[in-house]
Amino acid sequence: MNKNFATLLNCMDGRTQLPAINWIRNNFNVEYVDIISEPGIDKVLFLKDRAFIASLDKKMDISLNGHGSNMIFIAGHYDCAGNNVNKDEHIKHIKASVKLLKSLYENVPVTGLWINEDFKVKKIC
Ligand SMILES: [Zn+2]
Repeated sequence: MNKNFATLLNCMDGRTQLPAINWIRNNFNVEYVDIISEPGIDKVLFLKDRAFIASLDKKMDISLNGHGSNMIFIAGHYDCAGNNVNKDEHIKHIKASVKLLKSLYENVPVTGLWINEDFKVKKIC
């Protein structure tokens, strides 16, 4: 397979998918973006939700090992019904999510993204 994959953990919110996918494709040498989705996924990871973490490994294995993705992105966004907090809280959750994912997948770079009120993507860390 000669097309590059990346892995994106994103909210289920339909407004966030294309902005995140396009930003990743425009900023990295990536053709395809695998999506792992939960409502308010930055909060889910911040809380280290046990059921989600238990389900994550199988999905990550397919993306990282099956598809050969070598980069992980985690995004939070403005006006999130699944994580209805202010931007500062989202940034805190996104940073904690990056830290958790780095600890789970040690050899893969993890990037935290914020999708703002214009549904523009900003790199957080
Ligand atoms: Zn959301």
